[in-house]
Amino acid sequence: MEKKVLSCVHCGVKNCQDQKGEYPPFCLTQKPETQAPLEESWKIYAENDEVRKIAVASAQVEAEHYCQATRVQEVLYFAKKLGAKKIGIATCVGLLNEARKFARILEAQGFEPYGVACKVGSRSKEELGMKDEEKVYPGTYEPYCNPVGQALLLNQAKTDLNVIIGLCVGHDSLFIKYSDAIVTCLIAKDRVLAHNPCGALYSDYFDHLTDKPMFPDEE
Ligand code: SF4
Repeated sequence: MEKKVLSCVHCGVKNCQDQKGEYPPFCLTQKPETQAPLEESWKIYAENDEVRKIAVASAQVEAEHYCQATRVQEVLYFAKKLGAKKIGIATCVGLLNEARKFARILEAQGFEPYGVACKVGSRSKEELGMKDEEKVYPGTYEPYCNPVGQALLLNQAKTDLNVIIGLCVGHDSLFIKYSDAIVTCLIAKDRVLAHNPCGALYSDYFDHLTDKPMFPDEE
């Protein structure tokens, strides 16, 4: 049987957090194989002013509003600290009401929101090579989500910071890949759990996923 590689997700001591105990033998802070990427990261913080500024702004927002500010407020505090004025919103078309409300808050707080919905351009899924039976609603016109277009349109608008509102899993990956501005996520889409993915991890209901294969054919 292949030896399981242990990492931070198997750690019960979290000594990196407070340095009050001991590091486990497989610790990524300590083991020789992980030193090169860690060294490289220290160098990036030291040499890249933009990265350092973002790292500091994030840590300041965390400390100044710890357990006080909602994520909506934290995004605003973060934007303010960065000096970001034009805020791009990459939104799911199904969450336009939420995006509109967020844009109103941004405007009221002196920012300039610019939003692009996921179906922008409205091209059919057939053009991606998808079959009718692969659609959510076969037999209907169904445009594909266009996260690359969302990113390029926000790049054209020269946004300072982009915010994801409910993009699908994977569409968010493409948006992040093509966005010029840095990206933060306000809403992680979860259609079943009111956009609260943690609900699945807090609930016993999903415990079967820890021991029963989701992909039995590949076992
Ligand atoms: S860095 Fe080390 S101490 Fe911290 S969570 Fe990972 S394994 Fe645990």
